[in-house]
Amino acid sequence: KGYVVKPLTKEELGRSTWTLLHTIAAQFPEKPTRQQKKDAKELMAILSRLYPCKDCADNFKEILKTYPVQAESHAQFSQWLCDAHNIVNRSLGKPQFPCQRVGARWGKLECLDGGCDLEGNMDF
Ligand code: FAD
Repeated sequence: KGYVVKPLTKEELGRSTWTLLHTIAAQFPEKPTRQQKKDAKELMAILSRLYPCKDCADNFKEILKTYPVQAESHAQFSQWLCDAHNIVNRSLGKPQFPCQRVGARWGKLECLDGGCDLEGNMDF
């Protein structure tokens, strides 16, 4: 059986990407290592270049310039991402999400035996 390619819409791609990003933030450690802080910043910078919707990538690049990534702790990174998502929401005329409730909307991945935990990562 062959596959029929059904093009992904900008909206579907956006929802999937926000799901990934908010889940990464939900699991971001309370005390990130230097490497983890750097990775969070680099991930956003890379998205602003490689995100497969050019207009979105360009807009996100501008957001990063005016509102640089904050990833010194779990709380800081999840709030920063919620605020950044709200900036995108505003530009699209979508409602603002109440960021004090971001922890209720986005949680850690359901995973057995702490197999998804990042806390134990080594700092290289
Ligand atoms: P989404 O915005 O996809 O949100 C998904 C879910 O996240 C929501 O249903 C809600 O439960 C929750 N949520 C909403 N706001 C927040 C928040 N602030 N914090 C935490 N959770 C929240 N589209 C464009 O047309 N132009 C662009 O320039 C553009 N730039 C984008 C840049 C990036 C980096 C990304 C990831 C996406 C971008 N998109 C852009 C896509 C756009 O943001 C939406 O994903 C898309 O329009 C679908 O919107 P949605 O209403 O389904 O909810």
